[in-house]
Amino acid sequence: MTDGLPRPAPGQPLTASVTCGGLTFAGASESAHTTFVFCRQLGLIFDIGSVVDAMLPIDTVLISHTHQDHLLGLTRYICLRRLQGMKPPRVLIPEASLEAVRRLLAVWQELEGGADRIPPDVALEPVEPGQEVRLSGNLVARAFPVAHVLPSLGYTVVTRIHKLRGEFYGRSGQELARLREEGVAITDPHDTTLVTFIGDTLPETLERTPEIGTSPVVILECTFLTPEHADLATPRGHLHIRDIIERIELFGDAEIILTHFSRRYRSDKVRELVQQALPAELAPRFHVLV
Ligand SMILES: [Zn+2]
Ligand SMILES: [Zn+2]
Repeated sequence: MTDGLPRPAPGQPLTASVTCGGLTFAGASESAHTTFVFCRQLGLIFDIGSVVDAMLPIDTVLISHTHQDHLLGLTRYICLRRLQGMKPPRVLIPEASLEAVRRLLAVWQELEGGADRIPPDVALEPVEPGQEVRLSGNLVARAFPVAHVLPSLGYTVVTRIHKLRGEFYGRSGQELARLREEGVAITDPHDTTLVTFIGDTLPETLERTPEIGTSPVVILECTFLTPEHADLATPRGHLHIRDIIERIELFGDAEIILTHFSRRYRSDKVRELVQQALPAELAPRFHVLV
């Protein structure tokens, strides 16, 4: 599927896109090769295995884990933004991997001949499981632990507005300002969940993450598709489509975008294999990003 984005220049991967929940998610994904998903409406990139020009104006990256197929585009992205005069980006990384990524950037800086290709003020932000991170505008990312073979996080992105508590209805603006100054909590946060992104994962993450049941859109890996590969997924820290179908009740009403298909499957056959694996009643809820 094409995505309406300009065709990438030579050297850049082709992207596809899926629109659901009122949002368009573009990117490309193949196990062990690359995964990146970006949403221009949210101004967010989820994982950055590669870079295409359409991602450069987006200044916030949420990294699930540091396998190369999810991270390898980071230095290119940072350098390309700098070459175009854009400000250093904000990069959220699992806390356990932060120092190694810092070292990676330092090594690339050295390999670039010491030129300031990688600006020192790139905002690498460590994120712990359970942490909430304020993004731009009224967006908030909630990180949750993901079971994989490396420290890994998933992210649920919500919009948060603050509504006046019922007991303060009818008070004047002046009075409310005074109460706020006195430290009285006059509002409560109200979140609307937009999307949950999970990188590489074992099935247990699905069972312990209630966010997947409240998100209108869930983006997650589905490395293996066919019956003969049913036993390959768990030892490699991945999902087989059967793992998702067996747990479909955990997904509430979510539309599900599958990524990260094994290189065993030709990319032009992936849709067909997904359709073959799904019960007919589930098929309309599933999308693929390859
Ligand atoms: Zn991967
Ligand atoms: Zn991985």
